[in-house]
Amino acid sequence: MTEASLPDRLARAITLAGPIPVAQFMAAANAHYYATRDPLGAAGDFVTAPEISQMFGELLGLALADTWDRAGRPDAAYVELGPGRGTLAADALRAMGKARLMPPAHLVETSPVLRAAQAERLPGAAWHDDLTSLPDDAALLVVANEFFDALPIRQLVKGADGWRERLVACQDTLFLPIAGKPVPDAVIPPALRDAEPGAILEAAPAAVALMRALARRLVAQGGVAIIIDYGYEGPALGDTLQAVRGHAPANPFADPGEQDLTAHVDFATLKAAAEAEGASTYGPVDQGELLLALGIDSRAAALARGAPDRADDLVAARQRLVAPEAMGRLFKAIAVAAPSWPTPAGFA
Ligand code: SAH
Repeated sequence: MTEASLPDRLARAITLAGPIPVAQFMAAANAHYYATRDPLGAAGDFVTAPEISQMFGELLGLALADTWDRAGRPDAAYVELGPGRGTLAADALRAMGKARLMPPAHLVETSPVLRAAQAERLPGAAWHDDLTSLPDDAALLVVANEFFDALPIRQLVKGADGWRERLVACQDTLFLPIAGKPVPDAVIPPALRDAEPGAILEAAPAAVALMRALARRLVAQGGVAIIIDYGYEGPALGDTLQAVRGHAPANPFADPGEQDLTAHVDFATLKAAAEAEGASTYGPVDQGELLLALGIDSRAAALARGAPDRADDLVAARQRLVAPEAMGRLFKAIAVAAPSWPTPAGFA
């Protein structure tokens, strides 16, 4: 017997036990999506900054190396959350090596397909399902690019009579969002309680728990994390759940497991979670500003001198990463560090 498809399994679960929270739908859809494909690149569903240019990973690697140097060059491990194809890690580690930092690579990745892609570029790496098995005897130099946006979010929707949990129901094979059980006003930030009917408020309990665990590690072991994503500084209203398929937006409730589901990251909430564990936080700064501060223009010039035939490509890649109308403003970075560590490079 062939195993039932994810949509069939979700439909059956909803028919038997009732509509499920948006977070459960998103978690199941993304777990299947990432486990079954490499979604990156022109032939896939979306392109990320490290796939646009080697400069992205190199500059982040140099930022980590510089911060580590000013922290007194302790024993350190490189950690990446959701490393995709391993491109960023390979570029960062190569750049770190030039600064005479050669940390072991520890990759937090759940997808077997992407682990295989990462293994080709990073043969010596170690893999982890979550943060719990990361080394505890070294400072951690952490990068997460477009990772937090893939973690499941909870949505609350304002009804005529108050706030309700947003659930996913199923009619035949069609999934659709509905308003579920009422939630107490106490869980809604006071300034947002009187929102218009239909307003949506998001929370990211998985991202907050992960950030707390990461910050606890950084405080205990030393280290710094640079987190890059698109997002906002909440609390704020708005439905940011979105699907991308073949480089175009799609209905997030259609075809679970066959398209990339993301939500905007609430940087203010992530920073508060890290600070609650005693970590220092920096940013958000625009990706464009960060890359300029880290020296993308001199890196682009150096690469162009070495390969004049690629000069036009380098200018185009630099523009895509930095320009406000491209990725430069939409994407933002925060840094989280042990309080004993210096201000991370690029966040002064
Ligand atoms: N950072 C990469 C890839 C971004 S796509 C880049 O910039 O190109 C999101 C990545 O996070 C993928 O590697 C995906 O498999 C991984 N991922 C998603 N959810 C995860 C989870 N809950 N735990 C670990 N990895 C996860």
